[in-house]
Amino acid sequence: MNLPGSGLAKGLAVTLRTMTKKTVTAQYPDVQPHLPPRSRGVIGLLEENCTVCMLCARECPDWCIYIDSHKETLPAVDPNARARTRNVLDRFAIDFSLCMYCGICIEVCPFDALFWSPEFEYAETDILELTHERDKLREWMWTVPAPPALDPGAEEPKEIAAARKAADKLAAAAGGDSA
Ligand code: SF4
Ligand code: SF4
Repeated sequence: MNLPGSGLAKGLAVTLRTMTKKTVTAQYPDVQPHLPPRSRGVIGLLEENCTVCMLCARECPDWCIYIDSHKETLPAVDPNARARTRNVLDRFAIDFSLCMYCGICIEVCPFDALFWSPEFEYAETDILELTHERDKLREWMWTVPAPPALDPGAEEPKEIAAARKAADKLAAAAGGDSA
């Protein structure tokens, strides 16, 4: 059985306890939050790496990536070769009013064309403005943090080793020409 006034006493005890604790209320936007550098804020597009493979758009659970492209025929590099076709990007957009920030598009992109940026201040009063077209997605790339440094004991990535080998070969050829 509850004594009369025990509820009030319990309530006051809770109030007193919380009054002595450090406040957790964030004073945003007057004070910027301290977010981890790899927070999922917005997605940046490195267009040069995109081959229009469509994987990201197909895997996106929200169907909020819109890609349009056309094919272009490249002339054969020598008379015995065939002409080649390649995809040319016409439109790449992400609708952030639908995006649930799952990161699947970034994970599945085989060509490292999509990246997380920690920027999060892009609220809009018009929902249509939340569809970021390729130019805006490219702008976000400038806010993507540099990749973390390799562990000192880690193997050198094969891309870097291959690039160094190619550069050494070119330097050797240039040296041979000038000699
Ligand atoms: S983060 Fe997820 S929901 Fe957002 S665009 Fe990428 S795959 Fe789609
Ligand atoms: S998965 Fe990557 S390469 Fe393929 S269309 Fe998407 S961004 Fe471009």
